[in-house]
Amino acid sequence: MNYTQAKWEREEDDLYEPLLSEKDGNEVEVNSSLPDELTRDSLELPDLSEPELARHYTRLSQMNYGIDSGPYPLGSCTMKYNPKFTEDVAALPGASIHPDRSEESVQGTLELMHGLQDYLARIGGMDAVSLQPPAGAAGEFTGILVAKAFHEANGEDDQRTEIIVPDSAHGTNPASAALGGYDVVELPSGEDGRVDLDALSAAVGDSTALFMLTNPNTLGLFERDIEEIAETVHEAGGLLYYDGANLNALLGRARPGDMGFDIMHYNVHKTFATPHGGGGPGAGPIGVVEKLAEFLPAPRVEKTDNRYERFDPEQTIGKVHGFTGNWLVLVKTYAYIARLGDEGLNDASAKAVLNANYLASQIEYEVPFSPFHHEFVASAGDQDAADVAKRMLDYGVHPPTTKWPEIVSEALMTEPTEIENRETLDQLAEAFNAVAGEDDGTLESAPQKTTAKRIDQASAARNLRLSWQKLDE
Ligand SMILES: *Cc1c(COP(=O)(O)O)cnc(C)c1O
Repeated sequence: MNYTQAKWEREEDDLYEPLLSEKDGNEVEVNSSLPDELTRDSLELPDLSEPELARHYTRLSQMNYGIDSGPYPLGSCTMKYNPKFTEDVAALPGASIHPDRSEESVQGTLELMHGLQDYLARIGGMDAVSLQPPAGAAGEFTGILVAKAFHEANGEDDQRTEIIVPDSAHGTNPASAALGGYDVVELPSGEDGRVDLDALSAAVGDSTALFMLTNPNTLGLFERDIEEIAETVHEAGGLLYYDGANLNALLGRARPGDMGFDIMHYNVHKTFATPHGGGGPGAGPIGVVEKLAEFLPAPRVEKTDNRYERFDPEQTIGKVHGFTGNWLVLVKTYAYIARLGDEGLNDASAKAVLNANYLASQIEYEVPFSPFHHEFVASAGDQDAADVAKRMLDYGVHPPTTKWPEIVSEALMTEPTEIENRETLDQLAEAFNAVAGEDDGTLESAPQKTTAKRIDQASAARNLRLSWQKLDE
């Protein structure tokens, strides 16, 4: 039983942890030999013992749910456990350097950047990588700017005004396209949940700048016709963009570059290491094929003789982030890839796919589309997927992503990742199956056992409380 549950056994009003400053005895007396007018009478600092402090922060941590408390099968988000050694590496004194230091004095930093550019290029089958974008969505936007610069250099920018996005795409794809000034053309999926080649042929043409695709797609399905898709887009003069959020399914086995993709982003916080959620932190490096390398953001890092140097690609789109990007996230990414190596990455994708398939085989909800890879989308059927999610919290697990993609009604998009063992997958399946048999009344009043009960999410998002208030105020 954790703190939250223990509290629940008591009274509802108890679901509250006072601030340190609200605890008794929080006036520290000031004893100083300085003149009176230079000292304060008292300091409003909590006068607490170490155990009191440790318990306070431990209790706070238990009021929340995280990957360190249990399974977190949030589909598409890839909420895998992030090994603590990557945090140790990022905390090394040499990892934090002033960004304005001279190149001579930061050769190690530049070597790491160069090494990471190289790792990511090899993993993605790309020719050149920029580490600058600070998230996947920022990578999309940067990739779109690179595509735009390419079409501009060919004198085709005025004509190529459209970006095609499948209806199963993540919302950031059309958003990035619109932000880049493009018209978004939505491509309906075929009956098998994949790209419909005929629909694609009808949609592409002289006005196509880019086709953005996730592979495996958000249903976890591999686009088997990817080579024909690439050919169709390229013949029309368009470029093919790979949304790398699902790269965990392919690691060490298949490379977007080999499939014909021209640009990709890596959600390094999903595929590699860095705890994410709630808006960050992350990094979204992008990789491109040779003909696009000269448009990448500045600076990149190259090796000349025995030195690492920053350089600006010839026709660079400029900077999209200060200095080196989200540097400490990139350090963790490097550490994770270096530790796992080819074999470890290959093993991660194998287990991610195995785990998703095992879990799907154990749950009672229907999974309409298969064969899927690292994630599957079940349907909650007559139940409301959001209520199912809330109710799963009462069974001590984090729920899947819900209501997306919309191709599956009441979608439960589930991605256990490679980190879970069979026992935990069974625990997840039990939670799914317990909820599957419950009535609407039970679901609608859930969750009952969490720190916060059913929250009015719309008003919570609009009436932000940005400072601490006691619950009864
Ligand atoms: C997470 C995700 C994104 C956006 O990436 P961020 O790093 O969160 O900005 C884009 N596409 C898909 C499919 C995703 O799951």
